[in-house]
Amino acid sequence: MEIFINLKVTINYRMEQITCFFHPNRDATKKCIKCEKYLCLECQKFLRNISGRAMSDVVFCSKCVKAIRKRRIILGLVGLAFGITIMYLILTFALNKMEIDFKDLFQI
Ligand SMILES: [Zn+2]
Ligand SMILES: [Zn+2]
Repeated sequence: MEIFINLKVTINYRMEQITCFFHPNRDATKKCIKCEKYLCLECQKFLRNISGRAMSDVVFCSKCVKAIRKRRIILGLVGLAFGITIMYLILTFALNKMEIDFKDLFQI
């Protein structure tokens, strides 16, 4: 009797787990790797890598995929700003060095 109850609880628990978080009437096949919400086919979002191919083994919900895309854009912009800053510093350094070299040339 006890075993039977445990089994029933397990089944109920599983039934609850495999429905989509956003669509309770739909079956979930995968879950978001970030927030671990179970998702139906429609709710499963994939990130595309640089070559444009979807990374099918990594599933996100629409909310997490948006957050990640936003973070990617911000990181991209930060990277660009960092790159520009480095370029500017190198250029300034190079110009300063050239100026010194010019002065040295005049001194001779
Ligand atoms: Zn998520
Ligand atoms: Zn869904």
